[in-house]
Amino acid sequence: MAPEFDILIIGGGLNGPALALALARGGLRVCVADARPAKARTEPGFDGRAYALALASVRVLQGIGVWPALAAQAQPILGIRVSQGRPGEGAFPLMLGFDHAEIEEGPMGHMVEDRHLYAAFLHAMRNEPRITLRSGVRVVAQDTDGPLARATLEGGEEIGARLIIGCDGRDSAVARRAGIRRWGWDYGQTALVCAVAHEKSHEGIAHQMFLPAGPLAILPLPGNRSSIVWSERRDSAEAIAGLDEAGWLEHLRPRFGSFLGEIALEGARFAYPLRLSVAEEFIAPKLALVGDAAHGVHPIAGQGLNLGLRDVAALAEVVIEAARRGEDIASELVLERYQHWRRFDVVKMALGMDAVNRLFSNDSSILAVLRGFGLGAVNALPALRRAMIREAAGLNAAQPRLMQGLAI
Ligand SMILES: Cc1cc2nc3c(=O)[nH]c(=O)nc-3n(C[C@H](O)[C@H](O)[C@H](O)COP(=O)(O)OP(=O)(O)OC[C@H]3O[C@@H](n4cnc5c(N)ncnc54)[C@H](O)[C@@H]3O)c2cc1C
Repeated sequence: MAPEFDILIIGGGLNGPALALALARGGLRVCVADARPAKARTEPGFDGRAYALALASVRVLQGIGVWPALAAQAQPILGIRVSQGRPGEGAFPLMLGFDHAEIEEGPMGHMVEDRHLYAAFLHAMRNEPRITLRSGVRVVAQDTDGPLARATLEGGEEIGARLIIGCDGRDSAVARRAGIRRWGWDYGQTALVCAVAHEKSHEGIAHQMFLPAGPLAILPLPGNRSSIVWSERRDSAEAIAGLDEAGWLEHLRPRFGSFLGEIALEGARFAYPLRLSVAEEFIAPKLALVGDAAHGVHPIAGQGLNLGLRDVAALAEVVIEAARRGEDIASELVLERYQHWRRFDVVKMALGMDAVNRLFSNDSSILAVLRGFGLGAVNALPALRRAMIREAAGLNAAQPRLMQGLAI
């Protein structure tokens, strides 16, 4: 008997909904099962979390129809400034600067708040007849041995589909149950995440400041507000996370500096312990992994969701094209195309971010000179600068069609 769904996506965070919308637009029937109730994430207030989405990721959101609901609330990233220094040293010297005018495609990316992004996904999923959203349900078991894949929900209900996709985040139980092992390590750092309001305009500039204990990213939000991703050694981060607002700001100010005038906290504060966690395989029989379930990386260049959306675009293209050709979408041959496309890129990115974090998160004066020299050299070479801007915007070659702004 034909299953009710072509695809069951386990996990409805961010990559799960994006994938569901891409697959449904390709004519496939999709069920999304998410443990978290949908209303838990759609409170109207700003909770302090936001994402830097590269231009190629914005194209994916355009391609799946959610960008019109987001565009008015998104902040274009018009430039990037990279600097290094020590807390309390005042304005850090600029080592590398990029301007969006150096490429013809426009802003290299946009900042989008979590509340707007998730709400846009939810609205689009509810309006797509090929998507069935089951929120507030936890998947506790899966079976991919029979002719169909099946997942069991807490309470015993079963959902059948041709293919299961694990979008259940970096502790993916879908991967664990499929016997997929992971590699990676603990960074010994925790990212403190919050948003601040400031007196002066950020002018659309994103700042990446390298400090001895870890990088501090100051990312522009609409209005005079910025999103902060502040990595610290775990013991100091835990101490700071336990402080009240005034205590937190007392530690942030000497790192942030005064270039945007007086600062005040906006919304909630979060602490994320940082570790690298990459699945050894992105596929198993009748199963594939997408987003953090396949790879949890250091947030140093804000690439986590961008990598996930690249998985989304690649897997949707592989599966939709296979379905059109009449192939079995869950066959090893089809799933292997996805793994082949994505695994090398993910490992390259994960290790690249790891290396940058190691090179910059230390107090060695020799390395400080080398860092200054290396970045200064990049700054002086227009062709290399342009290549780096295109990389940051996600515009390098061999992109899935959705990332090129093309329909599948
Ligand atoms: C500090 C920090 C800053 C970041 N900043 C950026 C940035 O600027 N730009 C960027 O691109 N990325 C950024 N990232 C990365 C980004 O947040 C993640 O890559 C992204 O949220 C992963 O989305 P996901 O959908 O794969 O997983 P998640 O968002 O973790 O979603 C997993 C979902 O699975 C569900 N689930 C889990 N178990 C089950 C189960 N058994 N049954 C059913 N459902 C289940 C959960 O309810 C959840 O909804 C940052 C990350 C961190 C830590």
